[in-house]
Amino acid sequence: MTKVYNFSAGPSMLPSLVLKQIQQELIEYGNSKASVMEISHRGADFLEAAYKSEKDLRDLLSIPDNYKVLFLQGGASAQFSMIPINLLRGKSKAIYANTGHWSVKAIAEAKRYCEVNICTDSSENNFTDIQDFENWNIDPDAAYLHYTPNETIAGLEFDYIPDVDMPLVADMSSTILSREIDVSKYGVIYAGAQKNIGPSGLTIVIVREDLIGKVVSGQPKLFDYSTQSNNESMFNTPATFPWYAAGRVFEWLKDLGGLSAIQKINHTKAQTLYKAIDNSNFYSNPVSIKYRSWMNVPFLLADDSLNSLFLERSKEAGLLALKGHRSVGGMRASIYNAMPQEGVDALVSFMNDFEKDFG
Ligand SMILES: *Cc1c(COP(=O)(O)O)cnc(C)c1O
Repeated sequence: MTKVYNFSAGPSMLPSLVLKQIQQELIEYGNSKASVMEISHRGADFLEAAYKSEKDLRDLLSIPDNYKVLFLQGGASAQFSMIPINLLRGKSKAIYANTGHWSVKAIAEAKRYCEVNICTDSSENNFTDIQDFENWNIDPDAAYLHYTPNETIAGLEFDYIPDVDMPLVADMSSTILSREIDVSKYGVIYAGAQKNIGPSGLTIVIVREDLIGKVVSGQPKLFDYSTQSNNESMFNTPATFPWYAAGRVFEWLKDLGGLSAIQKINHTKAQTLYKAIDNSNFYSNPVSIKYRSWMNVPFLLADDSLNSLFLERSKEAGLLALKGHRSVGGMRASIYNAMPQEGVDALVSFMNDFEKDFG
């Protein structure tokens, strides 16, 4: 069998070492004599895995002690509601940066709870560029500022952190753990697991303690961060299997050398792919160079009618899930932490051959 590399945007590739470890442990987990999927979330075996995964995540991101880490369900999309519910704290407006598809979704949900001020809008350039921060329109009376550091669909990633005197909220679903970040700059960081953390079904929320406990009234109890925080994310049954699997991914990342190490690897991967695109007259990427994503790399073929042949041939070559999002067209290679440099090299070599044959 040819070696297969999976470029899916999410759920996406997991490190092969982690998959093998999970396979080994699947039938009998530790001393439990049962599968990790079959044991109580309140039993000693699962609790140990849960605590260890939180500790490893805290180590990886250097999460300060005054932040809680929650392991929730509902995806990043549930956070689109939980953010206004928990962070409005008596105020009636919030600020959102509109830099892509996921920003648009977060904004639509926030509008159900409050007035939304758009501080910057990349829809004017079809989500291929980001305005300098000094040109943003910041209303000081707003409760918080929400932005999406990496827009997964257009492949648009911030190279700066907005600097505001109010809680900063970030949807890091497709960039968390890809590079070092300073958690203390944020009020809330949240991420669905299925891009860079583990299997789908788990959502991680990192929230500063002083922002917990003042919710909009009449909302579901489960959507109150204090319910989750006071019960160690076990008010009801958590997503035990993805939580355990995420723990294995965190261990893998620590063994690799942590975020400074993976940051170098990710930077090289992205440079390799963008260089191949820029050096060709056949492939193109429309995103402003400064804001090109390290994780999601969309590219167009000079001739659209070759798209289906490209997808067919790339799949035969063991390069999976390269079809671009319908709103952008062309191709998209998602190269999250689990994608090794060899996978990117294999893609580049396939792209060069395809261009020679058909370009
Ligand atoms: C995938 C993604 C989402 C949606 O996540 P769900 O877990 O499906 O709700 C939201 N934001 C970003 C940036 C994403 O990449």
